Amino acid sequence: MTWVNIFQIASTAPFAIMRTLNILLIEDEQAIADTLIYALGSEGFTVRHLSLGRQALAAHHASAFDLLILDVGLPDTTGFEVLKQWRADPLGREVPVLFLTARAEEIDRVLGLELGADDYVVKPFSPREVAARVRAILRRDARFRAPAAPHTEAHPVWRHEPEGLRITFHGQRVDLTRYEYLLLALLLSSPGRVFTREHIMDRVWANAPDTTDRSIDTHIKTLRAKLRSIDPGSEPIQTHRGTGYSIAP
Ligand code: CA
Repeated sequence: MTWVNIFQIASTAPFAIMRTLNILLIEDEQAIADTLIYALGSEGFTVRHLSLGRQALAAHHASAFDLLILDVGLPDTTGFEVLKQWRADPLGREVPVLFLTARAEEIDRVLGLELGADDYVVKPFSPREVAARVRAILRRDARFRAPAAPHTEAHPVWRHEPEGLRITFHGQRVDLTRYEYLLLALLLSSPGRVFTREHIMDRVWANAPDTTDRSIDTHIKTLRAKLRSIDPGSEPIQTHRGTGYSIAP
């Protein structure tokens, strides 16, 4: 971890996320936490929120997080102290950290102490700015970087916003029915994986026992047409004869 790029505003360059990334947010102001949970959730991140520093220290033993967002001013301790203790533990040594700071003297300490944080944002901030910083940190971190994309463009190929039940393809929102959405979201949950017809039926049509197998084909067909209307040259949904479907990684 270095301080390089600390003042660089995050770009919106493509960032392919290979899996759902888990963020631990430690922030005692509920309103701030809520806006961050919403903003990061709509970018596809999973956010766990805790209000106290000591909970964070316990949580890090319980599960692995890909990134830590740490408020400096906590009721029971400081964010600096939490980070120091995380860094002392082998499991917490490599976790990227973004500080949320409120006062000038805190910023001085963030910059002055070599705690190994990756970036900071100053309150009040916009949740979008925080989300952009998070993306930028993860983009710089080789562990989270997907293999080089064959082509670059202004938008990632896919963006899934589970909160809004929205999926965009090449930056354009795909107009989806309920079942089309569920089907596409399932395929996107694991690009490259072949989902069997049984699995798709179980997951997408779980509450519609009368649905026949033909429904899958019909919905795949309409989905393909909708994706073609956005990008006529691509065929991201692949058929595996006798097995099922996958989406191109
Ligand atoms: Ca606080």
